[in-house]
Amino acid sequence: MARTPFIAGNWKMNGTKASGMELAKGIAKGAPKEGVEVGMAPPFVYLDAVSQAIGGTGVLLGAQDVYFEKSGAFTGEISCEMLKDVGVKFCLTGHSERRHVLMEPSSLVAKKAAAVYGSGMTLVHCVGEKLEERDAGKTLVVVQSQLEELGTDMADPERLVIAYEPVWAIGTGRNATDEQAQEVHAYIRGAMATRWNRDFADRVRIQYGGSMKPDNAKGLLNQPDVDGGLIGGASLKVDSFLAIVNAAV
Ligand code: PEP
Repeated sequence: MARTPFIAGNWKMNGTKASGMELAKGIAKGAPKEGVEVGMAPPFVYLDAVSQAIGGTGVLLGAQDVYFEKSGAFTGEISCEMLKDVGVKFCLTGHSERRHVLMEPSSLVAKKAAAVYGSGMTLVHCVGEKLEERDAGKTLVVVQSQLEELGTDMADPERLVIAYEPVWAIGTGRNATDEQAQEVHAYIRGAMATRWNRDFADRVRIQYGGSMKPDNAKGLLNQPDVDGGLIGGASLKVDSFLAIVNAAV
């Protein structure tokens, strides 16, 4: 099954409006027009400006987070409709920093995932184990339970992306080996075939995230069940991000 790789940058809480605009324009200018989907998720306050900078280029605008309610008294929060209003096409849920730094419980992650998918945006749902969970042999159990945050009424495999991001690899410079990534990606696809069906699972893209860099991207992206990357640190420079994008083509 040929799946178009999807490489997305997660800028996290970095940069200024000026640096973000420069980064966005540089990526949009250098990104290949076919063979790979490219996206970037800037901080909320820069979404509108980045949206205008990359409009019409084919590069997808993403959001790092969202709140599940449609509108109302939720101080500080942003809804799916607000994101769509400024051109957002995909939204992350369950990122390890939301789960383990901002202490989002699984029940909240599940509501956010349902809201993103229900809004018509593409859902990029992040899963991954902590180091102590890997060491205790619990990687697949953790990933399975995070996959179960998704409802099987999510019926369009083109709008569902799973990002496997081992927590111990995020921002640490220590990536999963090609074999470790492939093992978990194959498990995820199998688990999705069981919960949805084989055809659905074969169409869903599964990104790897966790210290993906230009020098390790090719090996990871060559794995049969690795369909792209969610990139943190290396997405903050045009050259390193585009090197990863080109490794996926
Ligand atoms: C991430 O935050 O999703 C990520 C993968 O970060 P990094 O590439 O910096 O490890």
